Amino acid sequence: MEKIDRKGILYVVATPIGNLEDITLRAIRILNEVDLIAAEDTRHTLKLLNHLEISKPLISYHRHNEDVKSEILIDKLQEGKNIALVSDAGTPGICDPGEEVINRCIDLGIDVIPIPGACAMINALICSGIDTKEFSFLGFLSLNKKLRKNQLDEIKKSKRTVIIYEAPHKLEATLKDLKQILDSDRKVTIAREVTKIHEEFVRGDIDYLIQNSDGMKGEIVLIIEGSNNVEENELNNLSIEEHYKFYERQGLEKKDIIKKIAKDRNVNKNEIYKMFI
Ligand code: SAM
Repeated sequence: MEKIDRKGILYVVATPIGNLEDITLRAIRILNEVDLIAAEDTRHTLKLLNHLEISKPLISYHRHNEDVKSEILIDKLQEGKNIALVSDAGTPGICDPGEEVINRCIDLGIDVIPIPGACAMINALICSGIDTKEFSFLGFLSLNKKLRKNQLDEIKKSKRTVIIYEAPHKLEATLKDLKQILDSDRKVTIAREVTKIHEEFVRGDIDYLIQNSDGMKGEIVLIIEGSNNVEENELNNLSIEEHYKFYERQGLEKKDIIKKIAKDRNVNKNEIYKMFI
């Protein structure tokens, strides 16, 4: 093992999000070496282990038994057993169980070691065509009306790229909600079935996505471009040339810049256009 200690080590092991080849050599070694694997769904993980020809005792660790199972895992770690924690797909703790036992280990001074690998949001983001420099991840939007409204307000105002997870049967409703809050120039990408046979990236604005996502199936990540809106008073203090440069720096094309300046200053776009001929 990587470290010899009286207490065991909790390895947080990322597994594939579809394509079974997406597992690291280190993850395979750790799964082979640990005493026990704690899995979100033992039947699901068994398929992966069979594929990797690994035979290990499994214990279930899911949302509804996190409290009880965390204590069982902690006892075993205290006895010196090494445990790998896996979820059904991707990185444990990211919209998946894991946090509870990880935090208990940290409190008790038990080592927690990440074994990196697939994560749907990161792979969706990197091929989205949307800015990757700064982003926030909201997980699944809440079904509670008030919380959802707060999240939508946050997305509306966010200057950063926003990433959300969505289930296919809720996609239509979510896209409609997004249409209410997004300026039509904000880019949105649907990343569907990433790493799987039907992998697909649909890139466009919110209207395009609504038109092109009818009956969409499979696992979905939505990536939403950050807002380019600057407070009106900030922009209107700029000269028209500075205002133009502000949008030029964001990589916008001339016709889009003119439209935006006209909107910010509440004037007809032809007036602005004439200034830049
Ligand atoms: N722990 C996982 C991770 O690291 O990404 C996420 C688990 S969460 C319960 C499941 C959600 O992740 C799905 O509803 C979907 O939004 C997203 N997801 C997982 N796999 C995906 C894939 N292959 N393509 C697109 N989205 C995926």
